[in-house]
Amino acid sequence: MYGKGLLTGLGITLREFFRKKATERYPEVRPKLTERFRGGKLALEPEKCIACGLCSLNCPNGSIRLVTVKDEAGKRKLSEYEYDAGACMYCNLCIENCPQKCIRWDKKFDFAGYDRKHLIIDCIAVANAKKAAEREGGAETHE
Ligand code: SF4
Ligand code: SF4
Repeated sequence: MYGKGLLTGLGITLREFFRKKATERYPEVRPKLTERFRGGKLALEPEKCIACGLCSLNCPNGSIRLVTVKDEAGKRKLSEYEYDAGACMYCNLCIENCPQKCIRWDKKFDFAGYDRKHLIIDCIAVANAKKAAEREGGAETHE
């Protein structure tokens, strides 16, 4: 029949027009990330960390640098904790090997920098800033 192809095409267009949309209006609408999503930066809970260094030891890319000191009681504690997102391959080994479960992904995947050094995160400073923002009631969350 003459025009059959045209009608078939229009039929497909109409069907797709009314079908539920698969695309999202990012960045206005943030995507719903799954529990197992790996992305963004490592978020540390410094108060839970026992400064064992297992996260750093298990990182195949050397993306985690931590410095420990001993307190008055001779107990090891964190003094610096840096995560290099530019060197991370999101293998999750650091998180899986943390005995305290005190590191996780912040899931804020859309970050960037003009220089590689902007991808190096001071996790203790970020955790302290987040706590201060929560105290003031203005914490930013994208999860
Ligand atoms: S996800 Fe893998 S590469 Fe990234 S910091 Fe953790 S262990 Fe290292
Ligand atoms: S593995 Fe966990 S507890 Fe140990 S130093 Fe890393 S973050 Fe801290």
